Amino acid sequence: MIAQNILKIKQELGENVDLVVVSKYRNLKDIQTVYDSGIRNFAENRVQPLLDRTIALPSDIQWHIIGHLQTNKVKYIVPFIHLIQSVDSLKLMTEINFQAKKHNRIIDCLLQIYIAQEDTKFGFTQEELLTHIENGDFNSFENINIKGLMGMASNTENKEQIESEFKGLSAFFNELKNQPFFKNKTDFSILSMGMSSDYSIAIASGSNMVRIGSLIFE
Ligand SMILES: *Cc1c(COP(=O)(O)O)cnc(C)c1O
Repeated sequence: MIAQNILKIKQELGENVDLVVVSKYRNLKDIQTVYDSGIRNFAENRVQPLLDRTIALPSDIQWHIIGHLQTNKVKYIVPFIHLIQSVDSLKLMTEINFQAKKHNRIIDCLLQIYIAQEDTKFGFTQEELLTHIENGDFNSFENINIKGLMGMASNTENKEQIESEFKGLSAFFNELKNQPFFKNKTDFSILSMGMSSDYSIAIASGSNMVRIGSLIFE
């Protein structure tokens, strides 16, 4: 089942959209099955399970973190993390930069943008982000490479609403790409949006990275 699910999703994504498999809450055997089908990019939303899994699973997995990250946990993941997708505050960036410097790494990060009409989701608003850029707040983060944006649409059945949220983020992404700071100082190219329930809408709206769990494992 798992291998077939992946094949089907990969066909739909084509070559220009990257698949990150969300392995949170899944057992090691099922994750290994996904790995055996050729997937190397996996995501967890919490630090402790992530650390447990790095020990139990093959070492060539590229691990992403996609859940709200507490500053006091940053030090545990900085030595190995491939992409931090849930960067949602300056305070967090300050700590990532500090730990990255210590480990002599440059950490790839996505800025999480708040696009949902819910108050449970983390992220910068578009206005906040523009203000940070204007103020030069990101200029000193020499050990952070801002690779792009991540966003989660509202948890709703309303497809028009989801589409409008994704299209809004996609437009913002394209606007930032041409902004001097991102153009000159970063490698700004990833737009991570779309999960099991809404990834088709996300890729139609311009996503080039999807994060899928349930559709693969269930
Ligand atoms: C859990 C999670 C996903 C995957 O959700 P599925 O519905 O299982 O595909 C994607 N992104 C984030 C941020 C998540 O927390």
